[in-house]
Amino acid sequence: MIDLHTHTNHSDGTATPSQLIRAAEEAGLKVIAITDHDTLSGWDEAVRTPHQLELIQGIELTTRYGPKTVHLLGYFLDGDAGPTFRNWLDQIHAHRLERNWRLVERLQQLGIEISWEEVESLGGRMAGRPHFARLLVKKGYASSPEQAFERYLGEDGLAFVHRQAPSLEEGIRRIRQAGGIPSLAHPARLNLADEETFLRMMKSAGLVAVEALHSDHDDSTARRYAALARRLDLVITGGSDYHGATKPSVTLGNPSLDMRSLEALRNLKL
Ligand code: AMP
Ligand code: ZN
Ligand code: FE
Ligand code: FE
Repeated sequence: MIDLHTHTNHSDGTATPSQLIRAAEEAGLKVIAITDHDTLSGWDEAVRTPHQLELIQGIELTTRYGPKTVHLLGYFLDGDAGPTFRNWLDQIHAHRLERNWRLVERLQQLGIEISWEEVESLGGRMAGRPHFARLLVKKGYASSPEQAFERYLGEDGLAFVHRQAPSLEEGIRRIRQAGGIPSLAHPARLNLADEETFLRMMKSAGLVAVEALHSDHDDSTARRYAALARRLDLVITGGSDYHGATKPSVTLGNPSLDMRSLEALRNLKL
């Protein structure tokens, strides 16, 4: 088995890169891509860890398409996205930090006792709203993370602060410029009325692949995206979207994905 979609604790997974590698090797996986949200630091640590399986450098960018948040995977089969891409990720990180600081301020203005240090100690470099949500629950300001989003952190919440994020088209362009392969992550989550038109437009913008196989997709959904990919001449990617204890029901590997999909990616001439 192989898995082209996994997260470490450098974004919102719970396994360290070395724990992820060990778990994947124990599960008999031959290849994993590390696709943390908006960072390559989990990958950087993973490649320094002794490993038998093949590691593929990947990323999952948070982008915007109109009012929608769209996750875009990027695969760098040559092994490094390079300095221009990494500098661009640093800018994205700066926007995240700025949003987090303003979010702390807004929550404090609402009378909530919360500090930047507490958020950072929970989420580290990639602290985000899920960490705020956990803190708000721990401190009794919400009964569940969902309620924390509903009351405070979500788009209609009292403390919502907008975060600057790149457009989907820019994400595609940046990944291509860095020599990577952009793949639209878990498309079913987008709830698009006209998926075919959307995918055709993104293909014109440089999209190369679509994640037809994903733990959110049941068999018929996966088949639908696979058929759409064939029709539009897009390559299929897939994976589990493993997050460790954050999503305990999702285990490593995707039985429907085989080496041939990876070979198809490797054989692309972009
Ligand atoms: P951030 O990147 O810090 O803005 O946080 C985005 C993450 O927050 C998403 O990946 C989701 O996991 C989580 N999230 C966003 N909206 C909600 C919601 N309404 N309920 C629960 N989790 C949410
Ligand atoms: Zn995630
Ligand atoms: Fe995602
Ligand atoms: Fe993911």
